Amino acid sequence: GRAVRDETVGRTAKDDTHIVSADVVATDGDEVGLRPRLLDEFVGQRELKEHLRIVLTAARQRGQAADHVLLAGPPGLGKTTMACIIAQEMGVQLHITSGPALERAGDLAAILTKLGERDVLFIDEIHRLSRPVEEILYPAMEDFQIDIVVGKGPAASSIRLSLPRFTLIGATTRTGMITGPLRDRFGLVARLDYYDTDELTSIVTRAAGILDVPLRGDSAQLIAGRSRGTPRIANRLLRRVRDFAEVRGDGTVDASTATEALRVFGVDERGLDKVDRAILDALCNRFAGGPVGLTTLAIAVGEQPETVEDVYEPFLIQQGLLARTPRGRVAMEAAWHHLANP
Ligand code: ADP
Repeated sequence: GRAVRDETVGRTAKDDTHIVSADVVATDGDEVGLRPRLLDEFVGQRELKEHLRIVLTAARQRGQAADHVLLAGPPGLGKTTMACIIAQEMGVQLHITSGPALERAGDLAAILTKLGERDVLFIDEIHRLSRPVEEILYPAMEDFQIDIVVGKGPAASSIRLSLPRFTLIGATTRTGMITGPLRDRFGLVARLDYYDTDELTSIVTRAAGILDVPLRGDSAQLIAGRSRGTPRIANRLLRRVRDFAEVRGDGTVDASTATEALRVFGVDERGLDKVDRAILDALCNRFAGGPVGLTTLAIAVGEQPETVEDVYEPFLIQQGLLARTPRGRVAMEAAWHHLANP
């Protein structure tokens, strides 16, 4: 199917919407062609895939739009990819936008009225929708209708518009910040988990095939093991290792080239990068293991509190290096150990 990009983060929906091919979404940014196109090519997240297979097959058999889907989880785990796959599997157009891009109710109305029958609308960072925008989303999701206010003051009146049946896919890094009424309007709510090393090894191997990088020995596993459980990072590390191998050698990647490259780029054996280590270092050394508040910790490492909370902490928690307590963040035993033996 074709995809319509209604513009994402950084710009507003006031910019003209334009239609692009699905390949443009697939080759957006530095993720050149690495996005799986079909459910069967999507590695891992077994339960989610199984649920989606049932939901999508049933919708197709009835000739209806699939139910709305909410995908939660840290960045880079495949939420956008999954939205592309759903549109592809349903044979419909994909429209992409994000919470912060939808400033006014009218921004969302403009997008909704452009949807085709059964199309997929992907809203990234849906937890950042403003209240008025969220409120017009409710009847749109539930009854496929929106009320548009025309005119101002006493002369203002509202017109009810019917929308085509569409599928909303919301993505969020924070389930906690989705309001109850919004969450309740999704037919399927799923959390994407970090990937294990075997899954990441197949992602790296697949990407190496597409990018034509010769991987030897257990270099794929080595890269996978240091990817913070995240496909986007696995693909990024693969590219850095490839660069290194091309500059320092003949382009062939073996375990020792991979190890050396990752050392040069500051990725340690656990997959932690400079910021991860700075967080642990501040927590253990500057704040004596905590508890310390999120904002204080974020300032200490020069990052936004939201970035620390959404991007860095989830993996550190998953790895048993850091914990959230009611009084603040604390270092776990393993954090001291890791800093002493990186
Ligand atoms: P998110 O929207 O959750 O931030 P993306 O869908 O943009 O993450 O995924 C980031 C990149 O990781 C994609 O370009 C894709 O190439 C890769 N990727 C994500 N999930 C998978 C997967 N399950 N299998 C293979 N590649 C994946």
